[in-house]
Parts: sequence; structure tokens; C-alpha cells
Amino acid sequence: GETIRIGIAGYGNLGRGVEAAVEKNADMQLTGIFTRRQPADLVPLHSGTAVYAMTDLAAYEDDIDVLILCGGSKEDLPQQGPALAAQFNTVDSFDTHARIPEYYDAVDGPARASRKTALISAGWDPGMFSINRVYGEALLPDGDTYTFWGRGLSQGHSDAVRRVPGVAGGVQYTIPSETAIDKVRNGSRPQLETREKHVRECFVVLADGADPAAVSEAIVTMPHYFDQYDTEVHFITAEELARDHRAMPHGGFSIRSGNTSAEHAQVIEYGLTLESNPEFTASVLVAYARAVHRLNQQGRFGAVTVLDVPPGLLSPKSAADLRAELL
Ligand code: NDP
Repeated sequence: GETIRIGIAGYGNLGRGVEAAVEKNADMQLTGIFTRRQPADLVPLHSGTAVYAMTDLAAYEDDIDVLILCGGSKEDLPQQGPALAAQFNTVDSFDTHARIPEYYDAVDGPARASRKTALISAGWDPGMFSINRVYGEALLPDGDTYTFWGRGLSQGHSDAVRRVPGVAGGVQYTIPSETAIDKVRNGSRPQLETREKHVRECFVVLADGADPAAVSEAIVTMPHYFDQYDTEVHFITAEELARDHRAMPHGGFSIRSGNTSAEHAQVIEYGLTLESNPEFTASVLVAYARAVHRLNQQGRFGAVTVLDVPPGLLSPKSAADLRAELL
């Protein structure tokens, strides 16, 4: 069959994950990594992987079928997404939920004008969880949707902890409440307060001379990030932080609980247990790159989301094989 040629734009956690994921897909090959830093400064997973300057991307237009955008949602994608969708078919993991409609519009125009296909906001949330939320609402209109995240390392909350005066380093884990999940799973459709659904756990290295009580108080009362949750703060050494908190686990549950009659409750659950959030997210992006390549060949131009993609397009198998094997 045909080989799909992939480019990686931006080489952080997600970019490394894409490099690894491409290798697991026999119908794909990596053209190279493109970075805003000095290409010679990057160390790819595989010494054979080519690294180029982002400014040289235009020269590789004919060598890349789909460019996977691995920049950050906050600073990078709002600029890179629209600019690169004018030149390439793209897939990204834009995850600022409240801004997805405006990001969609910003990418749609340039992609459409260049007859490119730009899939935005793939990953697991947004992404696979979004698909499950749509299935849940459509199949069980009389129902409630619940999303639980964790146990997982939250980048945003870890950054917030590290900005507290007196903190030399730290991480934050979000942990779903077992009690709350059990209530949802039994079909009782509980109304859950924010505080009941998740707890937050911080592991903090104190700066020299910092007061642990003051640091702890500053964290647990931080508006938006922690004040609406029960937060535990543990103080650890820099060695413990480096040794025990390097992995980026995550996951969670997307649950729809509904009633099809007065007698019967129905529960749909989609769960993820991820040892590496970026590697899993990258695997999703790579599968969607296959779909984007096909959508573009079919003439579907402009911005699309995971909700617009038929599931069979994600698979390397033909529609006939899928009917025979997986239906
Ligand atoms: P990183 O911070 O690791 O990388 C973001 C960008 O920063 C890279 O593209 C890279 O660009 C640059 N960069 C990376 N490392 C360095 C460094 N050491 N020095 C300077 N620049 C660096 O972010 P992640 O890869 O962890 O995550 C990217 C985005 O993925 C997140 O913002 C998040 O929005 C999204 N995401 C979405 C998920 C979902 O379910 N939808 C799940 C997980 C993440 P360059 O090479 O050009 O310098």
C-alpha cells in the first residue's frame, strides 16, 4: 500500500511521542523533525531521524503528506496552526477547551484556501473523551455526562505550584474520587460538586529557608487552581522529586449515565490508564494523521475535528477488512 509521510513540527514531549508512534505504524514514515531551536542542538530518539529548522519547512512541502503540530496550546498553536495549515495537511492537539471554536475558525480559512485538511484538538481530552461524550449524549438523551481525570500529572497545576514563592520544584497529581466514581457507575446520576469529584496532591521541594506552613497555605488557597479542591501538600527532597516524579502518567473516565425508561438505567464508560500522557496523545495524533491524509484525498478541505472523522478512516485496514474482522 501507500506510505504516508509525516513531519513533526516542534520537538517536546509530544514530538518525541510522535517519533515513537510513527515507528509502530507500518504504513507511515517520518520525513523529519522541524524545530525553532538550532537543529543541531536536538537529540532525537533515533540518530537516523533528520532534524531541520522550522524556517526550512516550505522546502519539504512535497515530502510531507501530514504535518503533526506538537507545539504548546497556549503560545505556539494559536500562531503555528493557522500559518502551517496554509501549507500542509495538519493534525494538532490544541487543548484549551474554551478557545476551540475560535481556533477552529482561525485554522479553517487558510486550510480551505490552500485545499488542505487541518484536524484540530485530537488527543484524549479533547479527543477520545470528546467522541465518547457525543456518543453518550446521542444514545442516552435522558442522561448526565461525567468526566473524571487522573490519576495524573497536571502540567498546568504543576507550573502553578512552582510559581509559589518558596517553592524550588514540584509536581501536582489530580486524583479522581473513588466514592464519586462509584456513585456514577451505579446509575444514580448524582449531582457532584467540584470538590467531591477530584482531589489534588502536590509534592513540593522547598527553597532554602522557606516556611513550609506559608507555602502550603499559598498553594491550597490559590484561586481557580486549588481553592475549590481538597489539596494535600507533601514536602520532599530534590532527589526524591527527580527519582519518583519523572513519569507523566494520566488517564481518566468519561461516563454517560442515562435512563431509557422509568425502570432502566444505562451506563456507558470509556476509561484510560496511561503510563505516558504524551506518548498516548501522540499515538492518537498519528492515527488521525492517516485519516487526514485520506480526507484530503477525498476533497474534504478546511478545519475538522475528531467528531467529523468516520472511525474506519483511522485504521490502516480497508473498509472491507474492517467489515469482516471488527464489525
Ligand atoms: P512541550 O513544552 O514539551 O513542547 C512544546 C514546544 O516547546 C515544542 O514543540 C518545542 O518546540 C518547544 N520545546 C520543547 N522542549 C523545549 C526545550 N527544552 N527548550 C525550548 N523549547 C522546547 O509540550 P508537550 O509536548 O508536553 O505538550 C504540547 C501540547 O500538547 C500541550 O500544550 C497540550 O496542549 C497538548 N496536549 C493535549 C492533549 C490532549 O489530550 N488533547 C494531551 C496532552 C498534551 P520547538 O522544537 O520548535 O522549540
